[in-house]
Amino acid sequence: MVSIYGQTLDDLKSQFKENGLNESGASLIYNYLYKKGHESFTIANLAKETIRFLEEHYELTIPEVSLESGEETKKFLIRFSDFEEVECVLIPFQGKHTLCLSSQVGCAMKCSFCYTGTQGLSRHLEAFEIVGQLMAVKKYLREKNLEKTISNIVFMGQGEPLHNFSAVRKACEIFLSQHGLSFGREKITISTAGYLPGLKEWSADPLKVNLALSFHCPDERIRSELIPLNKQYPLKEVLAEIKKLPLEKKRFITFEILLIKDLNDREEYAHQSAHLIKDMSPLINIIPFNPIPGSSYERPLDELVERFREVTESYGIPSMVRKTKGDEILAACGQLKS
Ligand code: SF4
Repeated sequence: MVSIYGQTLDDLKSQFKENGLNESGASLIYNYLYKKGHESFTIANLAKETIRFLEEHYELTIPEVSLESGEETKKFLIRFSDFEEVECVLIPFQGKHTLCLSSQVGCAMKCSFCYTGTQGLSRHLEAFEIVGQLMAVKKYLREKNLEKTISNIVFMGQGEPLHNFSAVRKACEIFLSQHGLSFGREKITISTAGYLPGLKEWSADPLKVNLALSFHCPDERIRSELIPLNKQYPLKEVLAEIKKLPLEKKRFITFEILLIKDLNDREEYAHQSAHLIKDMSPLINIIPFNPIPGSSYERPLDELVERFREVTESYGIPSMVRKTKGDEILAACGQLKS
């Protein structure tokens, strides 16, 4: 038995075809599971042999979800069948929600500002486990009549999504299906620390969703301190690869800059950052460091944060300071607590 939540619509259609079943049943089951929120294959207008096939080959388990904390921004703990756990975060915005998903249990990248990075990689998530996070939170929201309020998905939770790109790609295809959850391409963002092999996979077979890069600092030495992966795949090479990605009209690439006191908050870095990316259809998202226990890094002064923003904006780059929704529960990017 495999999980139905790891099947793209095309997967299901070809399995139906191979087994002599009507392919249109695949769209129907997608509609019932994802749009109507059914958790059963017993659907009135589905042929009996299709229901039997589904029951014999697929299971419908949604991972266990528990609310960990948060008044407005909510952090959930998601537990899979092998008892491994990840966190995902629901962030409110103008009556809707952005759901921040994890792509791995732990993470191999060891970024110096990140809780998850201190623990190493336990395992990759399968596509059905990524989709399962969304289904679990939707189920939680359904009880409050709010299940239709998830409007955006960001891969900014635990893990480096491009280190597990085949599963992330498959999950995105499931999110995008018009017969199912039907998210718009512009509503899904994959955030990477700059894992070059994954970026190459992406540009070889473009997945038309948004990209965000954890940019942090134009100085390769400081960036390597923050993201050790930068020693292997320097920023210069990462930016060159990103330039190869076909960008749809009116799309932006988001550059996340985590500002840390006395490390990368200097005005000269704002100028250098802007020079490097100004021709890449950029948006800059400045995140003042959110102090975590055990870290020597500190939050930068508000005036330096604002000055950094003014400088990048002076190059015509839309720049904003994230008011770290999620501060209360350590849920800012890369700082999910395990
Ligand atoms: S910031 Fe992201 S890529 Fe870096 S260690 Fe944390 S989870 Fe991994």
